[in-house]
Amino acid sequence: MSSLQPVRGTHDLMFDDIRRHRHVQSKFASVAARYGYSEIATPIFESTEVFARTLGDTTDIVTKEMYTFETKGGESVTLRPEGTAGVARAFISEGLTQQTPLKLFYNGPMFRHERPQKGRQRQFHQIGAELLGVPGPQGDVEVIALADHILRELNLTGKVTLELNSLGDADSRAAYRAVLIEYLTGHREKLSAESRDRLEKNPLRVLDSKDAADKEIVISAPRFPDYLNQASRDFFKSVQDGLSDLGVAFSLNASLVRGLDYYSHTAFEFTTEALGAQGTVLAGGRYDGLIAQMGGPPTAGIGWAAGVERLAMLLGEMPVLPRPIAVIPVGVGEDAVAQKLVHRLRMSGFNVDIGYSGNMGKRMKRANKLNAAVALIIGEDEVKQSSVTLRHLDSGEQSTVAMADLESRLELYR
Ligand code: ATP
Ligand code: MG
Repeated sequence: MSSLQPVRGTHDLMFDDIRRHRHVQSKFASVAARYGYSEIATPIFESTEVFARTLGDTTDIVTKEMYTFETKGGESVTLRPEGTAGVARAFISEGLTQQTPLKLFYNGPMFRHERPQKGRQRQFHQIGAELLGVPGPQGDVEVIALADHILRELNLTGKVTLELNSLGDADSRAAYRAVLIEYLTGHREKLSAESRDRLEKNPLRVLDSKDAADKEIVISAPRFPDYLNQASRDFFKSVQDGLSDLGVAFSLNASLVRGLDYYSHTAFEFTTEALGAQGTVLAGGRYDGLIAQMGGPPTAGIGWAAGVERLAMLLGEMPVLPRPIAVIPVGVGEDAVAQKLVHRLRMSGFNVDIGYSGNMGKRMKRANKLNAAVALIIGEDEVKQSSVTLRHLDSGEQSTVAMADLESRLELYR
């Protein structure tokens, strides 16, 4: 493939595609502001250490998917594969640890070296929210309600479902881990090579396997909910009651896990049937151990991230764009007057375009292609009389309007 093609797994975003992205991002920003979240834009690359420490070296992201390179200064840096690590790094390095509760949201490109397919790119975009310093279940409820609210604003409520699980506190996880390892070890020979590897390094992740044989084994595995201690059960019940009180629908999924030790209590995902294999549009959880693991003071945290490409694919038709006004000089003699009028109307706040060259027919064609609502036609007579011919392009109706009256006559199209 020519090196002048975009790199595999990357895309140019334009026209309808970028409008869909912007629609998702702007709805997100306005809803997040209502919940008291403020925006953070962390750098697109960080020291590799930031991701290695937060994501742990047994996750797919760290073992296989990171774009890591050495800079000319000999430093190892990585293009961010996700947003939480950078936010956590900023929380510590910007001295924000005393300013909790802290509510932050972000949006932007992420980079993962994985096999491109529908809904899976190497450069993709996420929106995400993080709530730092709220250890209680109200935090989980608010963060999930925010996610639900955004999906509602995007009219996706009917297309997605929320699944919840609890990973409990550290004691519950240790208890579950032990019985899970025992069970899986008993079926070790039938597990996929990847799951055998995970069994050693990160056994919870086996529950997540997409392999058919693994799934058979996982079906009969001990269930996480059965190993939650009372405190963890109470916490999870409060989250569920809180969501029910807000009318946020959910179902429980005992095999929904996050593989890393710093995750605790609530894990959740919004999934859809509409995108085939790439069905998770939004995923998140509580990560109370993360900030401490990065070297900050112990700080509770919970957040989520959603894939903008996947959300964009689920959206219905975009609203039609505002229709421009087309200015059409009949011949080159009227070009200068037309240019001046275009500028004047743009300065007054109208959306105006002009055919740059060609005869009247060609310029009218362009006006139609732009979906213009009206054309302002300027010929020799019009110039003499300081007027224009105003034509409604849908009806073909036209009338003469004095140049000086144009702003008020066009008010409807502003
Ligand atoms: P998956 O199981 O699809 O690989 P993940 O567990 O790697 O997802 P997260 O790290 O939780 O995903 O990221 C949150 C969301 O970001 C996903 O639910 C998805 O919508 C989106 N996402 C993740 N990776 C990609 C990608 N390569 N291309 C497009 N969107 C992605
Ligand atoms: Mg992935």
